[in-house]
Amino acid sequence: MEHKFSPKALEEARVLFAQPCDFLRGAAALDDIPPTRAPEIAFAGRSNVGKSSLVNALTGRTTLARVSNTPGRTREINFFLLGSRLMLADLPGYGYARVSKEQSARWTELVFAYLRGRPNLRRVVLLIDARRGLLEHDVEVMDLLDKAAVSYQIVLTKMDKLKPQELRETEINVAVVAAKHGAAHPEILGTSSVSGEGIPELRAALAMLAGR
Ligand code: GDP
Repeated sequence: MEHKFSPKALEEARVLFAQPCDFLRGAAALDDIPPTRAPEIAFAGRSNVGKSSLVNALTGRTTLARVSNTPGRTREINFFLLGSRLMLADLPGYGYARVSKEQSARWTELVFAYLRGRPNLRRVVLLIDARRGLLEHDVEVMDLLDKAAVSYQIVLTKMDKLKPQELRETEINVAVVAAKHGAAHPEILGTSSVSGEGIPELRAALAMLAGR
């Protein structure tokens, strides 16, 4: 799909994402969630979708992946502050096969409580592996986001693994499902943390939601 961001918007976004990005805290329970400050973007996706890699590619740092993949932190919401203008919330990955029903219910409880009680949350970026497209669990999460009335945008990861035609087919299939979900942003963005494709455009889309 074509994305039309002006050179100025792309440059402003690059500057925003080049600012320091500091880990604030991890929250395993609602009480641990830091008080509302800057506008916030949350990142959600299945385990292994490439979430840590993408957040690192956006910020040009490796610290986030290290924090988010530290044992014990993987089931927390990890909060990072980008240049005091944008809060990034890394939601725990879902859909890991060996997770019990109880753990899965705890994920839903924490995430739903977070989504409902976060007035500064501007958007959830829902990551989908471009090779796999939407799986059942992803659609369940979309239902949850609809229910929480939170606006979200689907971003495809690992697009370097697909031929352009395959990518277009995935984008269309995903867009058809997204169109049936009230809170889904109509634009689907393709990205690759390996090639860097789509990263400036995603930065620009998110920078539009940041504070001054
Ligand atoms: P997370 O569990 O969602 O945080 O996923 P990670 O960022 O740890 O990535 C999971 C796996 O996918 C790792 O082996 C990464 O090297 C790989 N990966 C992540 N992003 C990309 C990408 O854009 N392209 C390709 N080819 N592989 C990727």
